[in-house]
This record gives sequence, structure tokens and C-alpha cells, in this order.
Amino acid sequence: MDDALIRRARGWRRSVRDWPLWELPGWLSCVLITISAAYAVALEVAGVTTRFRVHDVVLFAILLGFGVVAIELTRRAGEPAGFRRDANGIWMLPIAIMLPPFYCLALQILNGALLQWRIRRYVVHRRVYNAAVHGLSYGAASVAFHAIAPHLPAVAADPASGWLLRTLAVAGCAVLRLAINRPLIMLAVKGSDPTARLRTQMLDGDQLYNDLTELTAGVLLTILLTATRSWLLVLLALPLVTSLQRSLRHAQLVDAARIDAKTGLLNAVAWQREARVEITRAARTRTPLALAMLDIDHFKQVNDTYGHLAGDAVLAALSATLRALLRDYDITGRFGGEEFAILLPHTDAQTAEQIAERLRVKLAQITVATGGAGSVQPPLRVTVSIGVATLATSRRDLNDLIAAADAAMYRAKAHGRNQVQVLADDASAPADRP
Ligand code: GH3
Ligand code: MG
Ligand code: MG
Repeated sequence: MDDALIRRARGWRRSVRDWPLWELPGWLSCVLITISAAYAVALEVAGVTTRFRVHDVVLFAILLGFGVVAIELTRRAGEPAGFRRDANGIWMLPIAIMLPPFYCLALQILNGALLQWRIRRYVVHRRVYNAAVHGLSYGAASVAFHAIAPHLPAVAADPASGWLLRTLAVAGCAVLRLAINRPLIMLAVKGSDPTARLRTQMLDGDQLYNDLTELTAGVLLTILLTATRSWLLVLLALPLVTSLQRSLRHAQLVDAARIDAKTGLLNAVAWQREARVEITRAARTRTPLALAMLDIDHFKQVNDTYGHLAGDAVLAALSATLRALLRDYDITGRFGGEEFAILLPHTDAQTAEQIAERLRVKLAQITVATGGAGSVQPPLRVTVSIGVATLATSRRDLNDLIAAADAAMYRAKAHGRNQVQVLADDASAPADRP
């Protein structure tokens, strides 16, 4: 072999070694590679078994053109990081149902390339995995429909039940697509970011409603196109896709405005808004409520010694633990740089102290790696000081509560840090609004 060839091979090996794919946990890289390989095999098998007909290629081109226009029309909104939602199912479902499986499989390569080129550069393995998951899930829907279709009664004989059964079959295949797609996407999101809030990202009411809208619109377009063969209908469906796409982006922007990006907790403004509502409710219903202010001890030293990135990793790790340990109805926010505010509804002083103490102990056990792999530096640990105050006759609004919890927190600092201090109640009964 000549030198140039050897040099090029070495260069290739180096660049493969640098792929961000290898930075993922081992099991996740395996999942990504397996799914992508399964997709490649499915594409190959579908490619050699498909009979290409002009009519199919034209239909594919029309629906693909529709998708390209939809992407261009919503391009300005960008593509948020993390879990991506779109309304592509509306035009991809007709491709899966009306054409042989090869088309919806191949479509994902074009779609991924288009997103990469027109919307946002993404790590390549994510695009490949997304294309593979979408390809396999649409492919499964397509195979299922083509297996069912010959057994459906002809619409000419009995239009009413013929179309009804056809619609149900299409809807069933669309559900099958989601049932394969969602768990595979969730697996990758959770694997690459264990702190990701999947329940709010994928399973809350709004998101499920969006999935349902996308699914029903996709089924409608498929049935209308099958029945009429009129491509003009595709134009009529375009505003539906773009407005659904925009409403999805809107929901994501609203979320981004509430959440602190570094920690995934509520940001200060959102926390105060939600805390205020909860305090008013507690005062009105005379139920107990506590506030804990938490501040990391000597955090400046952490930054000075290990750098800001290590500091950020500590903030993220602590926040993930807070989220895991607290109850669903507790309201946790990043109040300032390394200060967190935790509102504990239905919690009296004694219970709040127990909760704060448990948090303090658990947070002190967290370790954050400071060097790269194989680093000899010991992992980094931090401690926290927590001040707790409860709703009481003399403290009945958010500002009073924050001032009281802050005072308790400073007392914890003054008494040597790494401890919980509770500001004594001035009355045992919860606050009572006049
Ligand atoms: P104490 O025990 O008294 O709380 O000491 P401290 O060093 O934690 O207190 P101080 O409030 O003086 O320092 C807070 C530090 O937190 C200063 C700032 O550099 C750091 N900090 C604030 N926000 C961030 C952030 O987002 N990332 C990182 N890495 N550091 C931050
Ligand atoms: Mg501070
Ligand atoms: Mg501090």
C-alpha cells in the first residue's frame, strides 16, 4: 500500500475515534448502532423487493414536496435542543399507507438531511438514530397496513363499512407507529441525559393532545387522498401542518421561558409566580407550608479550584438529586447563582426540617468527576446550608417567607455551614389572612 493510502486510513480511524457517539454510555452506543443497522437492513430488503412504478414515485414526490414546503414555512422557529416535536406525521403517514414500505423508509434519509441542512446542524449520530427510529416505526406501520389491506372489504361493494374499516386500519397503523417510535426516542433521550424530564416532555396532557392531533390529521389526509386521488387536497392540508408545527414550537418556547437551562429547575421568575399562588392557597385553606432556601457552601472555591465547568456540573448534579428526592407538588427553583428555593406545601416546621436534613445528607454524598476519563484527581463533593421558615401569623406572603428562610440560611452559614436551621414559628397555627 502506498503512503498516501495508509495516511488516509489512519486519518479515518482517528476521525471515527473522535465521534461523539463513543462518549455516550456503552449500552446506549450499542442501542444506537443496533437500531441504525436494523434500519439499514430494512431499507436494503425493502429496496430489492419493491417494484417501482411511476405513479408511486410521483405520489412520493408530491408528498415530499409538501414536507419540504412545511419545513421551509416553519424554518424561522428553529429546532429546539433535546426532544424534537413536529407535525410531519400528517404527510408521512399517507406515504407509509399509500406506498410500499420502501418509500417511508427512504424518506427519513431525505428528511434528516433536509433538517440538518436547512434547520440545524446536529450531532450526526442523533440524526441517524432519529432517521432510523422514524424509518422503522413508519416502516412497521406500512408493512402492517399492506398486510391488512387485502383482507379489507372492497369500498365499491359497501362504501360505508368499507371506508370505516379502512379508516380504523389506518388509525391502528398510526398508533402502532407511535407505540414503536416513542419508547425508542425516550430510551435515547433518557440515556444521553439522565436528568431529562421525560414525563413533562412526552407524556403530559398537551403533548399527548398534539400527538393525537397529528395522528388524526394524518389519518384524515390519508383517507381523503386514497378516496379522491386529488393532489389538490395536499395543498389544503398545508396550513394544518404548519400551524400545528408552530403551536408545538410555542409550547416549547413557553417551557423554555419557565425553566432554568443549566439546572432544569424553575427559573427565579417562574418559581416566584408559582410559589405565590401556592402561598395564597395555603393561607386561604389554613394548611401548613414551608420554604427552604439552600445555598452551596464555599462554591466560589469550587470554581476557583476546578473551573466554572466543574461548578456547572455540580449545579446540574445537585438539581437532578433535588428533583429526584422532592415530591411532585414541591416547587423547586434556582433562585440565584448557587441558591435554590424549595416551597413545601402541606408541610409543617418539623417535617420541613426532616426533609431539609435528608436533602442536606443526600446532596453531600454526590460526587462529580473533575478530570477526564482516567483522571487521578479525587471526585468533587460539596455541602449545602439550608434555612427553613414556615407560613405563620407574622409571615404571610412570599417576601416575608423568603426573608425568614434567608435569615435561617445565614444562621446556618454562621454556625459553620453544612447544616439546617429552622426559624422558630411565632405561632403554631398556620397563617390566617384577615
Ligand atoms: P458560602 O459558603 O458563604 O455560600 O460561600 P460561596 O463561595 O458559595 O458564596 P458566594 O455567594 O460568595 O459565591 C457564590 C459563587 O457562585 C460565586 C459565583 O462564581 C458562583 N456561581 C454563581 N452562579 C454560577 C454558575 O452558574 N456556575 C458556576 N460555575 N458558578 C456560579
Ligand atoms: Mg450564595
Ligand atoms: Mg454559597
